[in-house]
Amino acid sequence: MNHSVVCGAGGFIGGHLVGTLLARGEKVRAVDLKPMSEWYQTFPEAENLQLDLQELPACREAVKDCSHVYNLAADMGGMGFIENNKALCMLSVLINTHLLMASREAGAKRFFFASSACVYAADKQVSEDVVALKESDAYPAMPEDGYGWEKLFSERMCRHFSEDFGLITRVARFHNVYGPHGTWDGGREKAPAAICRKVIEAVKSANHEIEIWGDGKQTRSFMYIDDCLKGILEIMESETITEPINLGSNELVTINGLVDIVEAIAGITLKRNYNLGAPKGVNGRNSDNTLINEKLGWEPSISLRDGMAKTYEWILKQFEARA
Ligand code: NAD
Repeated sequence: MNHSVVCGAGGFIGGHLVGTLLARGEKVRAVDLKPMSEWYQTFPEAENLQLDLQELPACREAVKDCSHVYNLAADMGGMGFIENNKALCMLSVLINTHLLMASREAGAKRFFFASSACVYAADKQVSEDVVALKESDAYPAMPEDGYGWEKLFSERMCRHFSEDFGLITRVARFHNVYGPHGTWDGGREKAPAAICRKVIEAVKSANHEIEIWGDGKQTRSFMYIDDCLKGILEIMESETITEPINLGSNELVTINGLVDIVEAIAGITLKRNYNLGAPKGVNGRNSDNTLINEKLGWEPSISLRDGMAKTYEWILKQFEARA
């Protein structure tokens, strides 16, 4: 059985991944910068370590004796965070670089890097009326400033560690992942969680209004966490996916449409106030799933309605517990 290390295990996707690997019977080490009391999920069966993976010695400790390295650690958040913290986002390059170096030294068998749809060139995302992004659309490069450049550089670092040093690397470009046990307030949350929280705040107060960032016409696709986990494992184990690949839903929705879904779940209709000065990202983005279908005979398919219902329910519980 594999001995895996999940880096960023205190975060949203990393926490779920630890649970999934343990359920498959794997021996798992879970590593994050945050104190364990702040991890979204902890599993006593895993070996849990608090380490700063920007440091090379910490990466050596993290990957020791592991055959499979999953890098989901990054200093990141939703648009509000990445537009205002470009240097912090770019410093995540230290995490991936040192993890690659340590994995090579330790003779790891496989290395997974969580990239992002933010690597795609800006000029391919100017219209809400999108043409879905295929993998080759990352070049010529003009990714999201800061965060996207770090992801694109780290993708290439993986590629060259494979080509020059023989370390097997796998790279998935996630498109907006959402679900329970993730960030839902504090400034790093992404649109699905932020909208759930804002709707809950409105339901719980007499103020039946909601602030929406941008004009609400921006289009996106959102992938439920269970699809993301299945994709990560299949991509990691694949013998033929040697290049970065999209891992995202292609159920396109406007931000207004996403608000409609959450309002229906909550059984409320709110007055919408559009904040045109707020960070809103590109106008339109969707995942072209031709390649993943070809390679795996599968693509993410959990509907936004079903996934958002589960996410809303979890955020509501957190909100009520805090109140
Ligand atoms: P998250 O913020 O919930 O988790 C990231 C974790 O990394 C955090 O717990 C954080 O404490 C940890 N971390 C940061 N710096 C660290 C360091 N120096 N050492 C150790 N740990 C450190 O984010 P997430 O949503 O779970 O995302 C996981 C990965 O997937 C990230 O690389 C992210 O860029 C990528 N990604 C996520 C999405 C999404 O929609 N959630 C989309 C595209 C890409």
